[in-house]
Amino acid sequence: MAHNDMRPAHGGEAFGPPRHPGGVAGLVDLHAHTYVSDGTLSPTALVELAARKGLAALAVTDHDHLGGLVEARAAGERLGVEVVAGVELSITHPAGELHLLGYFVDPEEPRLAQTLQHLRAARGRRAEAMVERLRALGLDIAMDDVVAAAQGRAEALGRPHVARALMAKGHVASIQEAFDRWLADGRPAHVPKRKLTAAEGIALVHGAGGVAVLAHAVTLPEASREPIVRELAALGMDGIEVAHSKHAPEDRARLAAWADALGLLQSGGSDFHGDNKPDVELGSGKGGNVRVAPEWLEALRTRAARRRAEARSPT
Ligand code: AMP
Ligand code: FE
Ligand code: FE
Ligand code: ZN
Repeated sequence: MAHNDMRPAHGGEAFGPPRHPGGVAGLVDLHAHTYVSDGTLSPTALVELAARKGLAALAVTDHDHLGGLVEARAAGERLGVEVVAGVELSITHPAGELHLLGYFVDPEEPRLAQTLQHLRAARGRRAEAMVERLRALGLDIAMDDVVAAAQGRAEALGRPHVARALMAKGHVASIQEAFDRWLADGRPAHVPKRKLTAAEGIALVHGAGGVAVLAHAVTLPEASREPIVRELAALGMDGIEVAHSKHAPEDRARLAAWADALGLLQSGGSDFHGDNKPDVELGSGKGGNVRVAPEWLEALRTRAARRRAEARSPT
């Protein structure tokens, strides 16, 4: 159990729950991004950080990309951190964009791999369209600046990269200002992203042997949350993210109650993005508002194994 040796000095006892309330030793984080999408750490650096915090397991959930997995797994084996294959998909819905996490997916599954490749190509074209909009609005910015903001990677470009480029060029003082002035939905340089439907996303995850979990439900309008959870549960969704850095205690309680009522599993994670979301910490979220016990990961793992067994022997 190498992760116990890696725990921070204040991280708690080697066995049992950590004594320090902010410590996350022995816990898991099922939502984190690397620079393969819109995080800022490499997969290796992300897993090294997880090991320093004493996390037992970490799901790498880059947007539309499973390319960080091999490197993250190599670091995880070296450091005693389990790395779970994850991906975050953007879903179109009449109530607004929602995000779906797929866990335990097979990165080699052809349909998933090909769909992700198409979504990433569309992201590249959208980044170019956003740059053109910004230039038409009189801002000095070029595609090279966006690629530089993505640390030279141009595979899964998103608005955080455009936002960082705007900051680097001195047009805004923060990533948040870039969204508020230019990039958020309804702002002048917003360009919509290619998205799957909920049914497509869930089927894609299941077809690749994984389980599908609704991410950060609080980003949906409040009145639409419960109907959407029900609608997605009816489509075969497996769980909902209950613990998340954007979720207040009352959000968590409500989401957990819906999960119980609908037979959905609970999941949780920080949604760590490195310096692209500087107030969110790996393993513990915002001000320690995320704590995820390994039991939630085990329940997701069991559900994924059951789905794969059922797919092999249809009744
Ligand atoms: P994209 O996938 O390119 O649409 O970008 C989505 C990313 O931008 C996610 O990581 C969000 O957390 C972040 N994001 C979306 N809307 C906002 C906003 N209004 N303010 C700050 N960040 C945002
Ligand atoms: Fe993101
Ligand atoms: Fe998300
Ligand atoms: Zn995310």
